[in-house]
Amino acid sequence: MQLDLIIYDTELLTMEGGGVGYLADAALGIKDDKIAVVGNSKEILAEYQACRSIEGKNLLVMPGLIDAHIHTGIALLRGLAQDITGWMEEGLWPFSRQLDQQAREAGTALNIIEAVRNGTTLLADFGSNLEGLVDWHSRIGTRAVLAKTINELDNSSEIVPGKLYPFDREKGEKDLAESLEWLEKEEIPERISFFLGPQAPDMVSRELLKEIYDRAEEHGIGIHMHVAQGKREHLQMKMRYNSRTIPWLNREGLLNSSLNAVHLTEANPEEARLLARSGAGLTVCSGSIGIIDGQVPPLQEFLAVSDRAALGSDQAPGNNCNNMFNEMKLTALFNKIKSQSPLPLPAWKVLRLATIEAAGCLGLEDKIGSLAPGKYADIITIDLKKVSLAPVIRHPLRNLVPNLVYSAQGSEVRDVMVAGNFIYRKGRMVNVNEEEILQQAEREAARIMERVDEESLDRLSPLYQAQREGKL
Ligand SMILES: [Zn+2]
Repeated sequence: MQLDLIIYDTELLTMEGGGVGYLADAALGIKDDKIAVVGNSKEILAEYQACRSIEGKNLLVMPGLIDAHIHTGIALLRGLAQDITGWMEEGLWPFSRQLDQQAREAGTALNIIEAVRNGTTLLADFGSNLEGLVDWHSRIGTRAVLAKTINELDNSSEIVPGKLYPFDREKGEKDLAESLEWLEKEEIPERISFFLGPQAPDMVSRELLKEIYDRAEEHGIGIHMHVAQGKREHLQMKMRYNSRTIPWLNREGLLNSSLNAVHLTEANPEEARLLARSGAGLTVCSGSIGIIDGQVPPLQEFLAVSDRAALGSDQAPGNNCNNMFNEMKLTALFNKIKSQSPLPLPAWKVLRLATIEAAGCLGLEDKIGSLAPGKYADIITIDLKKVSLAPVIRHPLRNLVPNLVYSAQGSEVRDVMVAGNFIYRKGRMVNVNEEEILQQAEREAARIMERVDEESLDRLSPLYQAQREGKL
């Protein structure tokens, strides 16, 4: 068989089997958009011809990282909402209400570039503007599982914290209809797929939530939803249904393998196990939730039952970065600190959570997440000559994986390929002009900031007050 590309004389983390699937003296062959062969370098070179070959002596080749929960549309608000208690209402809303479609798209482009530079090949991107998401993931070349935000909150009606939200069914139905329209469009690249995205169980009515599950089942797609996040949801669920979120979802028949549940910060250990037993996936966002809530979700309890778990970087306003190397390290650290033990979430396990197990969480384990013949060629190469990985020790004990998780910062990523195409090569974006995207982001951010009402910011934002006092 004539291959398109062989990377030879290299080391692979295949993520096959129960660990990282390390292979030395290895090669990887790609044909069209798929991995054709994985194995011993000499044998593959003897058996296969390729149009192009890359010597991989100082490279480590592994599956691309998966960011299973991100809102790229609000990336222009990076760093505007942390170190405060009212993240959403006081930190985010004064700015996010000013974001229009153009500003959201500028943020999406910026955020995807950041993700790719740091080795992310798939983003489960959740936002209000599907058109912009489809456009930028298409142009940059990333794989994406997109979900349009569906909620029944009418922006024009006053939402009073602590009072039950009034629901606007028409608004929710409109969001759902728009989500479904995208499933019918034909010109979308195969690597872009859709989930339905009810924002949270307290932001859509029971009836609409059930309808969303029915539509998802009909179309054979998943549900991407924030679940058991924050005091707001907890209070709303208590007031509306007199129940905690996860037992309520369970009673309503809404816990099943179609669900990628995000956060779970308010769930107790028994609820985390209940979610895991149902077959649902869990995505935790360690950096974001650490900064905006000071909490560590019950990931360990979930993992005791199920391996359908993933990591997400959530957003830029309060994380403040969207880099899966950061998420891997923080997830390991926070869980060790929470348990006061070095044992939870070892390096090899968090690397699985950012690759093969994330693929499982999104129902894509047969297509991506590991280096195996027949899977899409979504791969990254790591430059082993970078100082953060030096010295590379292979005997008597390999330090590659611990250094990738505890030392690497993302800049070690040299190349990123999605479906057999390089989208980032030797430190440069292949399909888009990065400089232009950065300039556009600066321009759009400046435009949006001019609209922000400083008086209400002064009244609302503890960060603005800290700045006025000369602290920030
Ligand atoms: Zn989110």
